[in-house]
Amino acid sequence: MEYQSFLIKYAEIGTKGKNRYIFEDALMQQIRLHLEKVEGSFAIQKEQGRIYVNAKTDYDYDEVIGALTKVFGVTGICPMMQMEKCGFEELREKVLAFVKREHPEGGFSFKVRAKRADKHYPVTSDEINAEVGHDILEAFPDSRVDVHDPDFIVYIEVRQHVNVYTKTVKGAGGMPIGTNGKAMLLLSGGIDSPVAGYMIAKRGVRLEAVYFHAPPYTSERAKQKVVDLAKLVARYAGPIKLHVINFTEIQLYIYEQCPHDELTIIMRRYMMKIAERLAEANDCIGLITGESIGQVASQTMFSLRTTDEVCGLPVYRPVIGFDKQEIVDLAEKIDTYETSILPYEDCCTIFVAKHPVTKPNLKSIQKSELKLAEKIDGMLETAVSTEEVIWCS
Ligand code: ATP
Ligand code: MG
Repeated sequence: MEYQSFLIKYAEIGTKGKNRYIFEDALMQQIRLHLEKVEGSFAIQKEQGRIYVNAKTDYDYDEVIGALTKVFGVTGICPMMQMEKCGFEELREKVLAFVKREHPEGGFSFKVRAKRADKHYPVTSDEINAEVGHDILEAFPDSRVDVHDPDFIVYIEVRQHVNVYTKTVKGAGGMPIGTNGKAMLLLSGGIDSPVAGYMIAKRGVRLEAVYFHAPPYTSERAKQKVVDLAKLVARYAGPIKLHVINFTEIQLYIYEQCPHDELTIIMRRYMMKIAERLAEANDCIGLITGESIGQVASQTMFSLRTTDEVCGLPVYRPVIGFDKQEIVDLAEKIDTYETSILPYEDCCTIFVAKHPVTKPNLKSIQKSELKLAEKIDGMLETAVSTEEVIWCS
């Protein structure tokens, strides 16, 4: 086992005043859930302003780091040596041995930053810095101290125990899942919606998702692709309840009854209505889409306004101001891109008009929808009541 312990750094949740413990507990719970997926047994402990993960068995370092870097709320993971408090001589020896193990290559610049939280410890922080710095320089004559931009910092925290670390792996940031309610993600097989889900989940929001499936126009493979995407997002966001809605009848009905240049907008309005029903039945207090202004006809400001008109719940569109490339960059970072670009058909593209309206007129859309009055309510009922639920984790 390379390291016995990891120090978990968190930033934003540290500022929540009296509610801080709620955020810390949620973070610990999330760390626990993520570590359940890797081999080994771990104790997660809290000490004022610090969370530690202590390994109780052997584990695979890369696997543990892989899990911890997907926990929202964590800003940094520091593999560390944690030891009982001891005399200063012994402390110096142990720190030096640790630095030798961590940076055997030498030729580095460094600085020592000691923090004595336990004021009973007989050596001050400044003295620790000076003495340990001296030890390292002596052991590595080709190293040098650089207080402004060192290759690494040797942190020595004298608290209940002594924590020593020199490396910090960047965490996912954000807030722990479960601290900010739940929202319903409209998840298509595209590039944008998985990224949108990731971004909102990062703010501590639990996700459910809905996929509108149009068999036989969209295939089982297209559906499987959405399931795979939900699983990829779930690596960060936790288990996602995916509602698969059969949308074929509704789409065909709209296609028969309404002007074709308004198809996409009308279809999207019904998607939103169904998503909202599912949201309300499942305690979700918002909807999420991967829309970005101007990306396609249905995403102009005019179109978005028309879509929003049917929604009572707030619609969160975290990539609204992103260029496609910025969304692609994020998709690559969270590993959804390769799956998103698999070339399966999408229900929106099958029924799309050659020249969709880009400035839909709300009155005209509402008028067209009157032509659906006879059957649409029953169809919405059926679509919701025949949903298929797939848990993705
Ligand atoms: P993506 O935005 O995921 O890349 P896309 O660009 O093809 O897919 P559009 O068809 O323009 O997206 O739809 C915009 C948004 O509407 C999507 O980001 C998604 O939130 C939602 N959406 C579209 N099609 C579906 C679907 N079949 N099921 C669920 N949500 C959908
Ligand atoms: Mg899109």
